[in-house]
Amino acid sequence: MIAGRLAAVRARIDAACRRAGRDPKGVRLLPISKTVPAERLRAAVAAGIATLGENKVQEAKGKAEALRDLSVAWSIVGHLQTNKAKEVARFAAEFQALDSLRVAEALERRLEIEDRTLDVLVQVNTSGEASKFGLAPEEVAGFVAGLPAFPRLRVGGLMTLAIFSADEARVRRCFRLLCDIRARLREEGPPGLSFDALSMGMSGDFEIAIEEGASVVRVGQAIFGARPTSDAYYWPGAAGAG
Ligand SMILES: *Cc1c(COP(=O)(O)O)cnc(C)c1O
Repeated sequence: MIAGRLAAVRARIDAACRRAGRDPKGVRLLPISKTVPAERLRAAVAAGIATLGENKVQEAKGKAEALRDLSVAWSIVGHLQTNKAKEVARFAAEFQALDSLRVAEALERRLEIEDRTLDVLVQVNTSGEASKFGLAPEEVAGFVAGLPAFPRLRVGGLMTLAIFSADEARVRRCFRLLCDIRARLREEGPPGLSFDALSMGMSGDFEIAIEEGASVVRVGQAIFGARPTSDAYYWPGAAGAG
């Protein structure tokens, strides 16, 4: 079942790329496995998935241990508290939700101890919703100017969650804003850092994100089925996908 859904999502990514005149190789699918039990993830790995995304460090760590016999890389896509930096520095390959210098500092210190590096994306709050994490758009330039001080953080770009809305124009505006911020950083950002990656788009809106330039789409429910929980993300496909 997972393999079939995964193939369907890949086909939709390819179709969206074709519509947008983009090469599908320029869009990475990051499956988001939060709330999905580790044992169910073996099927996903068997279907060719090499990296899984999780929003909670403890949950990700548990799954990383349970699936130690497979070679899976882990991407943390949710807000991080400094006291969890130690764990992330130990096992994660990527962190997509950097939005504070305190967290950057904590990660750098721990990465030094582990003698590792970490791929990071800077999270931007493009919807202006108080419920969302990330830097305000006008804070981004000042924030990234401080990042060269943390050489173990390999800055690769930006991440956002669009507004959860059935109004496509409002969703699209969030993605456009992230793309505009990247354009500015490419001109004026600190030398040595790359801002090529745009991680944007989830089950309900990844096709719009691809049209607006996403290079990473983070898709959970469309691959693993609807989450039954209070984690109430808007996803129009949820009714039929359980
Ligand atoms: C859960 C989550 C996703 C995936 O959402 P779906 O609706 O399951 O596709 C993407 N990004 C982040 C940060 C998430 O927490």
